[in-house]
Amino acid sequence: MALARGYAATDASKPLEPFTFERRAPNADDVVISIKFSGICHSDIHQARNEWGNSSFPMVPGHEIAGVVTEVGSGVTKFKVGDRVGVGCFVDSCTACASRDLDIEQYLPGLVGTYNSFEADGTTPTYGGYSDSVVVKEGYVLSIPENLDFAASAPLLCAGITLYSPLRHWNAGPGKKVAVVGMGGLGHMGVKLAHAMGADVTVLSQSLSKKEDGLKLGADHYYATSDAETFKTLAGAFDLILCTVSAELDWNAYASLLKVDGTLVLLGIPEKPVPVHAFSLVPARRSISGSMIGSIKETQEMLDFCGEHGIVSEIEMIRMDQVNEAYERVIKSDVRYRFVIDMATL
Ligand code: NAP
Ligand code: ZN
Repeated sequence: MALARGYAATDASKPLEPFTFERRAPNADDVVISIKFSGICHSDIHQARNEWGNSSFPMVPGHEIAGVVTEVGSGVTKFKVGDRVGVGCFVDSCTACASRDLDIEQYLPGLVGTYNSFEADGTTPTYGGYSDSVVVKEGYVLSIPENLDFAASAPLLCAGITLYSPLRHWNAGPGKKVAVVGMGGLGHMGVKLAHAMGADVTVLSQSLSKKEDGLKLGADHYYATSDAETFKTLAGAFDLILCTVSAELDWNAYASLLKVDGTLVLLGIPEKPVPVHAFSLVPARRSISGSMIGSIKETQEMLDFCGEHGIVSEIEMIRMDQVNEAYERVIKSDVRYRFVIDMATL
């Protein structure tokens, strides 16, 4: 056991505060990581405030972790002391399940979240990246390409893979028209990744206030969803729409923007059910689907793709003691485009 320092939510209604806790002693297959940077995902806020109703406290959020290996167990083969590594949304999964070979462990029972979860023993809580160190099985540790800015790589571990996985699954690439709804932490990564894959990329944002940024990041087109004309102009336009918004939207209006056989993929998780009229889908064989992060294999593939294309997140670096203020700004969509905590300030 080693003492770790971090910031925790002790209750859904309280701000995060300094917190000291124990990290487990490393086993033979574990990697000990000194955390250098930790991204702030909107999911951290949903969970710290128990908006999904599944939170346990105290909670140390953070699942966009970039750090340096300080120790490896005797059985570790992939990493050595000094390596730049990342940890994303989960740190263990059900290895007994044969389906694991399909590289879809994020969808299988037995997934152990990086925080707000329990280790495979079912009783030891997991604590996330808003802390100085973490101990993780090597199978759940990712390599961060040397050419990428270290701090700006942290958000790839959730925002990056959450967009990369559906873009690959639904074959985004040349000749495909992809729309990204919401240009926040997830959305701006979707623009960069879809552009690098060769797709024609449209941003559907509430207003045109971030249009210049969107076009610079790789969007070919940028529309405001507050303008009713947008939905007329773009009717039947897209092969794939990736929706990163967790607010209630007019889902029929978004479905109407799909081509025949097009798919609307939910990434954000609205509180209420998503009502869609059959007439929005049936006459064009449209689908509505959902997607959650990506497998470990796919996450490494995404990081290597980002290394090849020089893709990282647009970030605003903050001190650890600014985390509560940052949460308020994320809620107001006042972030361009991801907050990353410099853990040296802990
Ligand atoms: P974020 O940075 O807050 O971005 C969300 C974007 O949604 C905002 O930038 C804004 O974009 C748009 N938006 C906000 N309020 C809206 C409203 N009332 N109506 C319409 N659009 C609105 O959050 P994020 O970190 O990207 O996360 C987005 C969602 O995805 C969260 O719910 C998070 O929990 C979820 N998530 C899911 C997964 C997964 O695996 N599926 C992984 C990570 C996160 P514009 O200003 O451009 O309109
Ligand atoms: Zn996340």
